[in-house]
Amino acid sequence: MLEINETHDINLNSWVSSANEHKDFPIQNLPFAIFRRKNTEQGWRGGVAIGDKILDLALISAANIFTGEAQQAAMAAAQPTLNDLMDLGKQSNSALRRALSKALTNGSALASHLHSMLVDQKDAEYNVPCTVGDFTDFYTSIYHATAVGKLFRPDNPLLPNYKWIPIGYHGRSSSIGVSGQKFPRPTGQIKSPNRTIPEFSPCKRLDYELEMGLFIGKGTKLGEVIHIDNAEDHLFGICLLNDWSARDLQAWEYQPLGPFLAKNFATTISPWIVTTEALAPFRHAFAHPEGDPEPLPYLNSTKNSASGGFNITLDCFLETQKMREEKTPMAALSRSNFKHSYWTAAQMISHHSSNGCAMQAGDLLGTGTQSGPEEQEAGSLLELSKGGKAAITLPNGETRTFLEDGDTVIMRASCAKKGAKTIGFGEVSGTILPSLPQPTSSQ
Ligand code: MN
Repeated sequence: MLEINETHDINLNSWVSSANEHKDFPIQNLPFAIFRRKNTEQGWRGGVAIGDKILDLALISAANIFTGEAQQAAMAAAQPTLNDLMDLGKQSNSALRRALSKALTNGSALASHLHSMLVDQKDAEYNVPCTVGDFTDFYTSIYHATAVGKLFRPDNPLLPNYKWIPIGYHGRSSSIGVSGQKFPRPTGQIKSPNRTIPEFSPCKRLDYELEMGLFIGKGTKLGEVIHIDNAEDHLFGICLLNDWSARDLQAWEYQPLGPFLAKNFATTISPWIVTTEALAPFRHAFAHPEGDPEPLPYLNSTKNSASGGFNITLDCFLETQKMREEKTPMAALSRSNFKHSYWTAAQMISHHSSNGCAMQAGDLLGTGTQSGPEEQEAGSLLELSKGGKAAITLPNGETRTFLEDGDTVIMRASCAKKGAKTIGFGEVSGTILPSLPQPTSSQ
């Protein structure tokens, strides 16, 4: 595990002056993205956020100003995807972080040279940061699992395996998009309770899920099992993730094999990946509640109990078409925290590889909706509207049970702790477009 080092020093300031009071991207954060200048045909390349700027890692690499592992990592980060950088592993990623931190610190001799390698974030566009070979979505909030279970199975909300297995399913990487993603309302099979047969219709119960996304770093071979204490050696970093969900499609299709078309029409992630090393000051002790079973030995370790959790505040907002037209502020929907997760990142990774399943650099693991213990901490509309029975009222008087066309969902995350510089994840936003006309029969 990478401990706290000089890159986390709260007193560190940058010659990029916007970084020093930046709520998300002070010099202590240094998250990675794939970017290019907006409205150009420039090649995609890696960048690191510093204040309201991006340091261009393709230019850093070409200038050959770093040495050894840091230069090797900069070359990997200059590629159109971050997979190579991720696959280099922790030591190399850490060497690049130290080199970047030093070069961006106030008084650095490299300041004048690096100044020309900065791009304003407002002039940039982003891409999905890596080729995501496989996408897995977990279900790690026991509060979400219980609330949703109650709606689908009132007598039996939490299935007996929940407290033993980090439950998950294999998703679809082809529909993952970066913040700003716009997609049509999905159409599919829906069977309303008062009908005997299903209809094929646009989704009427479209929802979001407030999640974090874990990016796998160094990969493993088929048959290789990741020990829980080494699991984070394979975790490159964390982003925000919105797992859009069609609740009416889900209700009809999910038994017996779990989510399918209710989940794979769109998944939106934030462009910036905050590295595990940047999150070191915000680690959190992990334990299952008193009376719950201890995890099986392969999911249990002293290290994981001492510091396997991350204290990350999560916020979710809604901006409707009307709010945009009337220029009124977006509405806060809920606030939660990743520390409530029933399973840690290390447990998700070690469980995933426990049968010998190969993990590849760039694989994405969704954490599942991160609802907290209180009702207002719910990470989906399904929970906030009690399964669509109790519409929520927004500050401008509009109401919602589920999402409407033109709605934009925005998620943010940040980490704050006494003695540490506050860092954030930026945001992920996505917008619902009207459903596409369905192909009609040729007869
Ligand atoms: Mn999900």
